[in-house]
Amino acid sequence: MRTPLAGVIGWPVSHSLSPRLHGYWLAAHKIAGAYVRMPVQREQFARVVESLTCAGFAGVNVTVPHKEAAFALAGSCDDLARVTQAANLLIFQEDGRVLARNTDVFGLRRSLETELGLATLKSQHAVIVGAGGAARAAVMALCELEAAQITVVNRSMARAEALLATLRPHLKTPLSVASPAQWQGLAEEVDLLINCTSIGLGDESAFMLDLARLPPAARVCDMVYRRGGTLLVHTARGLGLSAIDGLGMLMYQAVPSFAAFYGVTPDVTPALRHHLESETP
Ligand code: NDP
Repeated sequence: MRTPLAGVIGWPVSHSLSPRLHGYWLAAHKIAGAYVRMPVQREQFARVVESLTCAGFAGVNVTVPHKEAAFALAGSCDDLARVTQAANLLIFQEDGRVLARNTDVFGLRRSLETELGLATLKSQHAVIVGAGGAARAAVMALCELEAAQITVVNRSMARAEALLATLRPHLKTPLSVASPAQWQGLAEEVDLLINCTSIGLGDESAFMLDLARLPPAARVCDMVYRRGGTLLVHTARGLGLSAIDGLGMLMYQAVPSFAAFYGVTPDVTPALRHHLESETP
């Protein structure tokens, strides 16, 4: 039988935990497959994907900065990739076509459900900070959880407006944008705050919004993860708020990828989190 091959393409990609994550499941399920890390620059992305389709790969995960390009080159895509115009999973089909999927939406939703106990966001106001690809996925996850209202706060208002223009035609949920200067009036209405900026990824500069203004029942989700927890999560917990980091989202977004590559649906377990935390940068 052919060794199932897959991997993750990004630039940079050296920090990615995906090889360790998929490696854990390959070992747990005794699958003689491989999952490799592929540092690929923007200009080479399409050529590399085409080569991998000919080299027997089952598919690839795609991370920064290629998610939009992954969506654009695929012959077909799922609804979430179409709406967000971004894909983190490319599946190479037997007929040679490339299928693009966005499993970040699923990953965030499952993380909110299982780690924050949010089975639904009915009648709740969710605020997303950031307006990049991760924020687009977050909007869709919050819609799936039936949030009553979503507000996107971003440093660049032009980028927030662009997100609004892309997503609003597809949504029933009221979606609006706000600048960080409007936080004071907004904070006390927040039920769930999701950080979709890269603050906290490379350095520990302070988060741009004052969490002390949040109501005591508000919950906080940081898409970023780092060993020992992010400053945002520590600050939120220090204020008595429930808070989670982005490791849960990472693990859950990988479940449909692993199933597509290797034909087995794996489990997200505390042992897996522990395995990844020991390696988190
Ligand atoms: P993008 O580069 O597309 O967007 C980055 C966002 O961060 C922009 O809104 C940008 O604002 C904002 N930002 C960056 N630096 C600052 C700052 N100093 N102050 C205020 N705002 C800032 O990135 P993505 O959307 O692809 O990813 C965002 C984050 O989500 C990353 O940290 C990524 O690692 C994480 N992520 C985690 C996943 C997981 O599985 N846990 C999955 C996907 C992403 P502006 O528009 O004003 O520049």
